[in-house]
Amino acid sequence: KTQGGGFALVTARESLHDAEMHSLSSELRAAIEEDQLVLHLQPIVDIAADRVQGVEALVRWQHPRRGLIMPGDFIPRAERSGLISELSNWVLKRALSSAADLHAAGWPLGISVNLSARTLLDPHFPDALAELLAAVDLPSRYLTVEITEDTLMADQQRTLDVVTRVANMGVHISIDDFGTGYSQLAYLKRLPASEIKIDRSFVEDMLVSRTDLSIVQATIGLAHALELRAVAEGIETESQAERLRQLGCDYMQGYYIGRPMPEDKFRDWLGAWDL
Ligand code: C2E
Ligand code: CA
Ligand code: CA
Ligand code: CA
Repeated sequence: KTQGGGFALVTARESLHDAEMHSLSSELRAAIEEDQLVLHLQPIVDIAADRVQGVEALVRWQHPRRGLIMPGDFIPRAERSGLISELSNWVLKRALSSAADLHAAGWPLGISVNLSARTLLDPHFPDALAELLAAVDLPSRYLTVEITEDTLMADQQRTLDVVTRVANMGVHISIDDFGTGYSQLAYLKRLPASEIKIDRSFVEDMLVSRTDLSIVQATIGLAHALELRAVAEGIETESQAERLRQLGCDYMQGYYIGRPMPEDKFRDWLGAWDL
């Protein structure tokens, strides 16, 4: 891939990418209003019960000319340009109505939504969320809000206040990408969380690296000691799934179980899932 002249080529591509990103952020507001965003749903399985427990909602941007843009390419822009509240609002609204539709169709699944640090610093967020919840026929306990460890570091007390108000509404809190950020166990202890998500990077190498296996094992142990669920992400093989089951991990998610899919495809997938 990076043979002779590769450096200049990569540099040229990166500046093009930069220019592209600038126009992207100006188009993002319109995209939110014009419904160019789509949610894909990825199944989360209860390992012991061998049952689909819920889904994680992952946003994509179906750009009219550029095609499907992944969240890593526009979420950071949305955060910096102040559009993240609108985006979070759109995602929550859409995710809650998807989950309510699934419930109505006889699939009482949980729905997990990723929220940015910026959203959780906003003292108006819990009221906005309460309004969204009131507008759908879905008990709040079916919603899980995923936050990363680094989210918590921005302004600990303020974030903790917002997260606590959200948890008091009956919404579950999940600590995403666990082990990759700057966790303080003292802070973790104060957080009203229900689950810890073990980052994909550890799962990826757990069968070839003794260290990664130890980290996965220790994280499951920590989760259980704190009476939290342990969720593993990025499961790509049957042997990883089997090892996680042996380790007593509660839930798992990854391409091996199912990829993120548009809602109609997810319904087909659900119908085909062995009961
Ligand atoms: P995340 O929350 O860690 O989400 C998991 C990412 O891993 C997703 O990438 C998913 O498609 C991918 N993934 C799932 N299973 C596997 C697997 O078995 N193997 C591999 N290689 N990858 C797997 P995606 O959809 O590109 O999302 C990337 C990140 O963007 C997410 O990471 C999350 O931090 C952020 N994101 C996605 N949707 C939203 C959103 O609605 N709001 C906010 N604030 N952030 C979002
Ligand atoms: Ca997540
Ligand atoms: Ca994650
Ligand atoms: Ca991640």
